[in-house]
Amino acid sequence: MIPFNKPYLTSTEIAYVTNVISNRYISGNGSYTKACQAYFERTYGFSKCLLTSSCTDALEMAAILLDFKPGDEVIVPSYTFVSTANAFILRGANVIFADSHASHPNIDETKIEELITNKTKAIVVVHYGGVPCEMDTIMLLAKKYNLYVVEDAAHSVSGFYKNKPLGGIGHLGVFSFHETKNIQCGEGGLLVVNDKQFEKRSEIIWEKGTNRSSFSRGEVKKYEWIDVGSSFLPSELNAAYLLAQLENIEKITQERKRVCERYDKQLSSLVQSGTIKVASELGGHHLFYMLVETLEVRSALINYLNKNGINAIFHYLPLHLSPFHLKTSPKLSLPCSEHIANTLVRLPCFVELTDSQVDLISQTVKTFFKQYKPVLDVSEEVNA
Ligand SMILES: *Cc1c(COP(=O)(O)O)cnc(C)c1O
Repeated sequence: MIPFNKPYLTSTEIAYVTNVISNRYISGNGSYTKACQAYFERTYGFSKCLLTSSCTDALEMAAILLDFKPGDEVIVPSYTFVSTANAFILRGANVIFADSHASHPNIDETKIEELITNKTKAIVVVHYGGVPCEMDTIMLLAKKYNLYVVEDAAHSVSGFYKNKPLGGIGHLGVFSFHETKNIQCGEGGLLVVNDKQFEKRSEIIWEKGTNRSSFSRGEVKKYEWIDVGSSFLPSELNAAYLLAQLENIEKITQERKRVCERYDKQLSSLVQSGTIKVASELGGHHLFYMLVETLEVRSALINYLNKNGINAIFHYLPLHLSPFHLKTSPKLSLPCSEHIANTLVRLPCFVELTDSQVDLISQTVKTFFKQYKPVLDVSEEVNA
């Protein structure tokens, strides 16, 4: 079986983790944590970065920093991972779901303005697969209505929008280093603070609501409880593992790019014939996905690939149709995110996937479409 993902190991994770163990400094905010944060600050020009235990944690920090209160509204794409919405729900906020583009999972920037009310506090965007959202339009909208923008850049490490690094454009940005992401340490994340007004408080929330970070720098004589907060910082074991990955970020990005570009070339005849859509011209190298015509085709294709030893999978279920959201909210229709949820297929994509494996997978996809005969009268709506 060709797996969907295989976490890549550089040659230095074990040495760095061993070093943490022999140093006997295992808890958070040690030298490896600082090195990871400094890496992002130096490489992308981010002004302040805080390593977290997950992207979910970084999103929760963002919701606290933006001072979300019960009744406040946040605009979130429906086609995303649950944490993008949950972080705000935990603060009592109401999540207002936005639709995707018709042919791409990213939030449709032309449909955001109609969702803004006098309770709206922030817009969260997700750069799906590392493909940037239309940030110029979104930042202008935020300025016009005095809103904050949070970039969920979980897919977007080392991605750019008009030469600006993703995660560095909104007031706050978040990254994920979960095992399934490009750069990973099992579980991990990062909060990027781009708006200086949040810098000081971000450290306090990160350190359980105390000014311990100031204390460590010798700025205060004792550390005290001064705000809300939680234990958002990861252990040095994770940070050490992550640093090894960061030092190989160019190679890792390059290899994923190779895989995506090769799929693109191999599947171009299917794109030209209108059988599938891919996002190639939009950039982004976290995953390779295609959009097929219907849910029925998608299910048959995934089945066929699995039978032929290829682990292809679909992705998010739209959050506006989730059992949790429907418990308290009326059912609404977001046709583009529903259609994408029904028709998106992700193919294996990882550093060690060889060119000949990409060719084999592409050939199998083409063979499927050659022999596929649609069955009529099958309902398309899984999520409805
Ligand atoms: C993976 C992911 C998350 C959550 O990341 P964790 O590090 O697992 O908490 C959030 N948002 C998006 C878009 C993701 O893909």
